[in-house]
Amino acid sequence: MVEIDPWGVADIKDYSRLFAEFGISPFKELLNRIEKPHLYMRRGIIVGHRGYEEVLRAMNERSKFAVMSGFMPSGRIHLGGKMVMDEIIWHQRMGGDAFACIADMESHSVRGTSWRECKEIGLNEYILSLVALGFDVEKGYIYFQSGNKKLRDLAFELGREVNFSEISAIYGFSGDVNISHMISVVMQNADILQPQLLEYGGPKPAVIPVGVDQDPHIRLTRDIASRMRMFRVEKRLDKDQKPYISIREKQSGRKALDEIARRIEYPKKIYAMHIDVFGIDAPDIDKTMREIEEIVREVEIEYGGYGFFFPAATYHRFMQGLTGGKMSSSIPESYIALTEPPEEAARKVKQAKTGGRVTIEEQKKFGGSPAQCTVYELMMFHLIEEDAYVKEIFEECKNGRRMCNSCKSQAAELMHSFIKTHQEEREKAKEVLMEHEIYKKWL
Ligand code: SF4
Repeated sequence: MVEIDPWGVADIKDYSRLFAEFGISPFKELLNRIEKPHLYMRRGIIVGHRGYEEVLRAMNERSKFAVMSGFMPSGRIHLGGKMVMDEIIWHQRMGGDAFACIADMESHSVRGTSWRECKEIGLNEYILSLVALGFDVEKGYIYFQSGNKKLRDLAFELGREVNFSEISAIYGFSGDVNISHMISVVMQNADILQPQLLEYGGPKPAVIPVGVDQDPHIRLTRDIASRMRMFRVEKRLDKDQKPYISIREKQSGRKALDEIARRIEYPKKIYAMHIDVFGIDAPDIDKTMREIEEIVREVEIEYGGYGFFFPAATYHRFMQGLTGGKMSSSIPESYIALTEPPEEAARKVKQAKTGGRVTIEEQKKFGGSPAQCTVYELMMFHLIEEDAYVKEIFEECKNGRRMCNSCKSQAAELMHSFIKTHQEEREKAKEVLMEHEIYKKWL
């Protein structure tokens, strides 16, 4: 059994087992449908997804979609957090409504971080780096959970659909888990669904870019989104294997079902609790399904429902810690913070664990192991944009034509320059935020 624990330490080595065990789909199958895939996509760093097809279709059709993810303000922003930021920003540039949450209620309840620290860390570590990396504050939304009343109201509403036994089974909560920690679960569900509220343009496909350890939140939120729906719309086959669409009423009442029947122009049969829609040619089934889902959604909203799409997720794999093993916030040598002095970041790269051989002679003769090398990983994940160059480094290393000392020096220089530039951008980000009333109060 592979355990995924959003609050624990993840050590997930065999991603293909994850696909099999949790029904996560491999991301690479979608790659050729993405116009300009991000390097995390191209390089297999985003390893899996759940329901991303719908987001991709919206992106390619230039229709509405959203991206959201969150950051728990309990430590320094490091390269792992940068990955989520890069993914939010990429989706924003691809036309998505972007939401970035500072999960201060979660940090306060789970880690015991004081409100004051939450605010300081949230702003000075996370928000400044997010904006410095390219988040467009004119088009996107950044918020603290605790300052968002609509979010708290939504969490309260969603909480009606989940009970203690269920979240205990998912997260392994025992009797000593505090109630606020449990509330932080529904807050996260609300974070994920919030972009689909009418205030933000209504229901739309939404993607949550996260590390693979966050899958329990995604699965739970998809379940809750489904429970909140007033209708279930399904494709079915009749006895002659012809497709039809069934719309089943769950909690709307008869009037709403009649209204849906009135708006659907295809041949249909209306029953006490459901409608079956016929006359659809097999090749058109998906298109017709979307049309009907739109009608159902419209009526659902008119009758006070939410009409949520099930949120999608992309899952990236984790970087190794620089010292080997896991990256851990309690071991500063294992990670590079975006806010540490560039010299310090470069020093850490020079001391990082490599996949090199013990001697230069052996390296030349047998080659190194870039796949085991944290320095290679830094270059591949963060420091080198051109795929061809990354591949060249990989080949040179494997073939014994690249030596660790000079390779580390090169990576250290790149890291120094990246962190230095990023910190200059952070200064500019403060000015950008100062121009906005809603953000000014945080500075
Ligand atoms: S040569 Fe570079 S990529 Fe290869 S193992 Fe050494 S540091 Fe890593």
